[in-house]
Amino acid sequence: MKAIKLYLNYAGHCFANAKHVVKGDKDEMIKFHALFALLHHPKKGWILFDTGYTSRFYESTKRYPNKIYANATKVVVTDTDEIKNQIKSIGLETSDIQHIIISHFHADHIGGLKDFNNATMYCTKKAYQKVKEISDLFAFSKGILKDLIPDDIEERLVFIEDFSTSNTDDIFGVTYDLFQDDSVIIYNLPGHAAGQIGVEFETQKEKYFLVADSCWDERAYKEGKLPNSIVRLFFDSWKDYKDSLEKVISYHKKFPDVIIVPTHCSKTTDNLVSNEINMDVL
Ligand SMILES: [Zn+2]
Repeated sequence: MKAIKLYLNYAGHCFANAKHVVKGDKDEMIKFHALFALLHHPKKGWILFDTGYTSRFYESTKRYPNKIYANATKVVVTDTDEIKNQIKSIGLETSDIQHIIISHFHADHIGGLKDFNNATMYCTKKAYQKVKEISDLFAFSKGILKDLIPDDIEERLVFIEDFSTSNTDDIFGVTYDLFQDDSVIIYNLPGHAAGQIGVEFETQKEKYFLVADSCWDERAYKEGKLPNSIVRLFFDSWKDYKDSLEKVISYHKKFPDVIIVPTHCSKTTDNLVSNEINMDVL
């Protein structure tokens, strides 16, 4: 594998009830940070994995039906939280981001897409098909705000299954070598959302597996603890969710040294994020 450089931080947060995140936990609200990853590839340049929240969340939820989403989920994002402002501190312009890997199309993962007009975007066919299929009226009920999706997405979107080399994998069946150089490996993690993916890569120091929302809490892959099944209401498939989680559990058993990063697990991510961009720490 070619060494990737990594920086992780939050781009805003919302709140979730702990008793929904892990069945049996206390009835209390906890922060659900919108984690993003800034990667640097020696040949491909700057890459984002997900893009967090931006103030566009507020604009797109001003009116019904999307307002129901905002009423149910209090979102906090300031100007300084937005990725386009964070990257300025190291002299990066939004046009320097050449690639965006979209784990899935929920609002807390794609809020910044419209800021990066120069980037090729990568997702699975299933993830995008679902976005196309779902009616504008009900999209919010599945965590999708269509206003956040760039108008020219189809000209810039690349389907991972078409673009990347596939490899067989003992646990996941198939994986994709995104740039055909063994540097960024894509894993299918459907269930929470249709066609959801995670990414695995190695820095000079560690190997990481960013697993998006295939688990919300480290106890999910360490102890098999599931969320409260009420979350099925907005998941794409509870069966696929459990299958994907089983695969992450098996992966963790097989590769205990790889750092697994669930997007919204503060216990994991608080130790990895920093407000100062330094590509040589992680
Ligand atoms: Zn999420």
